[in-house]
Amino acid sequence: MTKNHELLYVAISLDIDPDANCAVEGRHDALSSPVRHGKIRVEACKRGLQKTLELLDAYDIDATLFYEARTAQMLVADGMDLPVLSERHEVSCHSLKHEDYLGKVSGVPMKEESLEETITKAKDILENIFKRDVKGFRAPYTRINQAVVRVIERLGFQYDSSETVALGTEWKGNPFPLEKFDSDILELALPSFLDSKGKKMSSYLWAIFEGQRGSGEYVDAVLWARDIAKNGLFVFSIHPWHLYVDCQGNPFNREQVQKNRDNLEYILSHLKQMHGIQMLRQDTYMENWARSHRADSDAQISLS
Ligand SMILES: [Zn+2]
Repeated sequence: MTKNHELLYVAISLDIDPDANCAVEGRHDALSSPVRHGKIRVEACKRGLQKTLELLDAYDIDATLFYEARTAQMLVADGMDLPVLSERHEVSCHSLKHEDYLGKVSGVPMKEESLEETITKAKDILENIFKRDVKGFRAPYTRINQAVVRVIERLGFQYDSSETVALGTEWKGNPFPLEKFDSDILELALPSFLDSKGKKMSSYLWAIFEGQRGSGEYVDAVLWARDIAKNGLFVFSIHPWHLYVDCQGNPFNREQVQKNRDNLEYILSHLKQMHGIQMLRQDTYMENWARSHRADSDAQISLS
């Protein structure tokens, strides 16, 4: 990642969590919609994950997989060989049971002690299943506060990827320490940007599956970012279940499922052949960035 490369780096991340999950009043963990059934379902997640991993393989793309630990356990119990399927990808943590840490919907914010308990358990479960170190963290609903950040730093995570930041003149996609939470842990933020009508959009692909946006808009966003965020990272995010069920948990019909897969494939294939960008895992980007940063400061020291 030397300065003369002038590439935009693009990461595909997956939030692998229960189908159409939803925070629930009065409890920390999430349930699948409709929550009145009191159930956790991962059938759509399983099918969507299989399909997405197939597409990533077909286009030779290494991605970052943020696993909710409970979902990973359920998928393994259902016969999925997650360690083999995830082999080329980064394995990161997306909580234990998709807890509403800040209590925004549950009404019961979690104390630092229980945050530490559940995140420790999540990390242990994932490291046990995948037999490797888990370095990245993304909070459920992408909501973090100082207590969450303190806990993940204490547990040895190397980066967080929960914040959303407007890509542009102020921020060009580079990692930054979470100073606003009084922490040195690095943030690999998700970008927000404007569509052709000047309306704000995010790099979460949910709006495609809910029929609110077209896949071309995301390809256009990367073309724009390529010019203004050189050496920066553009992180996409996908919920695998969303290929098969909508946010309310209603199954898509066969035609819609095909459309969803085609849209995802359209984006991946366009990114893969785009000039001036390189696709990589978030941990790879972070390691390269840290290395070039160290080289920069060493050069400065030897000059002074
Ligand atoms: Zn999630």
